[in-house]
Amino acid sequence: MNASKTASSESARLPLMLTELRLPTMKRLWPQLAEQANREGWPAERFLAGLLEHEIAEREARRLQRNRANSQLPAGKTLDLFEFDAVPAVSKAHVMALAEADGWIGQGHNLLAFGPPGVGKTHLIAGIGYALIDRGYKVLFTRTGDLVQRLQAARRDLRLPAELAKLERFDLLVLDDLSYVRRDQAETSVLFELIAERYEQRSIAITANTPFSGWDAVFPDKAMTIAAVDRLVHHATILEMNVESYRRRHAMPGPRHHADKK
Ligand code: ADP
Ligand code: MG
Repeated sequence: MNASKTASSESARLPLMLTELRLPTMKRLWPQLAEQANREGWPAERFLAGLLEHEIAEREARRLQRNRANSQLPAGKTLDLFEFDAVPAVSKAHVMALAEADGWIGQGHNLLAFGPPGVGKTHLIAGIGYALIDRGYKVLFTRTGDLVQRLQAARRDLRLPAELAKLERFDLLVLDDLSYVRRDQAETSVLFELIAERYEQRSIAITANTPFSGWDAVFPDKAMTIAAVDRLVHHATILEMNVESYRRRHAMPGPRHHADKK
């Protein structure tokens, strides 16, 4: 496997040229593939196509990896680890269709998951998020309170539009625990601006313990609550997860068969 046997001036210049063009996979693989091509007498087209295919495949893999890292999704909360039997009201087929991005995500449709604490809202939404990343979409997961603070700071510094534009890069923005945000603790009108900005353009997924009726405590006034809810539900899938806490059920003594991940 000594590619330097083919030592020509091309061989010497190739690594430099491939670095210059930012083709790291081709740079790594060409000696081995060139050696095989020379040995087996491949046509030049086959050699070139082989190298390019590897470069494209690795570039895509790096992109997905980067999107996964940038998503801030909670680790390990994938759909394959979600037990759908625990929430009979949620259809697995429906969730899988959402995970396959069947139309909703490119059209700015939303996804809302309601239910008491511990029923798997965050896990389910995160699982859909991971699946969408695998399909090439960009997802950002945030606790709603953190995002409100970030947007508020941006508004103070007169860069709210720039901050909202940054979020536009994401096909799906997850606002986890929306109902934990309180208007008396934060200037929550930025949340409304975010919702209005993304309306019919970019998708939002929300998890909340309280249904819409409790959102009066979130937004500055009733009119803004109504306007926000209106935009959110105009094109939305709502998952009602009113079961007993998965956490609590699994913390109970007695024979349980669900092996927990270590
Ligand atoms: P919520 O967001 O509704 O408060 P979480 O998604 O945080 O609930 O779920 C609480 C814990 O229970 C998490 O560790 C989650 O992975 C697990 N969990 C909840 N529901 C399920 C389920 N149906 N299948 C597997 N794990 C679940
Ligand atoms: Mg949660």
